[in-house]
Amino acid sequence: ESTRTPLMAGNWKMNLNHLEAIAHVQKLAFALTDKDFAEVEVAVLTPFTDLRSVQTLVDGDRLKIKYGAQDISAHDSGAYTGETSGPMLAKLKCAYVAVGHSERRQYHAEDDAVVNAKVKAAFKHGLTPILCVGEGLDVRKAGQQVPYTLAQLDGALKGVAAEQAATVVVAYEPVWAIGTGEVATPEDAQEVCGAIRGRLAELYDQALADGVRIQYGGSVKAGNVAAIMAQPDVDGALVGGAALDAEEFVKIVRFRD
Ligand code: PEP
Repeated sequence: ESTRTPLMAGNWKMNLNHLEAIAHVQKLAFALTDKDFAEVEVAVLTPFTDLRSVQTLVDGDRLKIKYGAQDISAHDSGAYTGETSGPMLAKLKCAYVAVGHSERRQYHAEDDAVVNAKVKAAFKHGLTPILCVGEGLDVRKAGQQVPYTLAQLDGALKGVAAEQAATVVVAYEPVWAIGTGEVATPEDAQEVCGAIRGRLAELYDQALADGVRIQYGGSVKAGNVAAIMAQPDVDGALVGGAALDAEEFVKIVRFRD
């Protein structure tokens, strides 16, 4: 059993307006107990338009729920219409920001260089990136999931100092398992999460690698989370669809029950 505190993060994607967000976080706050928060870190990654409302609620009620965004600009300010900067997210006291989610890579042409710049922007402003990596179905069928995913990891962490890399969260999300209902087997998740930790040890050192949290993401639900969490190198889950149901997400946080 590792000393890493599991991180259960809900990725709401483009769902829940700011009023729905308040109702949802209130449900989580009502259900989750101090015991839950002592054992597991809980975070929600919301649309930008929800962040201020969630901040107000979390601050006002001193909730232990962490929150953050689903993307960050590589730039600090300026003529980048439609983007949201690290300083803006930091001002809202975001703890986390997803970087390199497969939907950003697919629909917004984010390559490893962009992801690397966004990882650096997050660290620069005191935000913890949840760095998403993972292979598509073609790569999986060719048996290349480990080298493919490690190449994404290398690209994303290029030039990132150990001091910062020590705090990164890596989310292994096989693209074929996202939103498809097709969850990776625990063994599949472990194979790549273990390889990610191994690569972190090569890039930095073993102590750093042992401290980094590596999540699995892809069709995680209350019914399959325990088996995945039982794997030695899986330290949490990045949860999409199932995070939109507060009761289900609470069950995922209580994966040990
Ligand atoms: C995700 O969006 O990161 C994700 C894992 O989605 P889902 O849980 O719906 O597969």
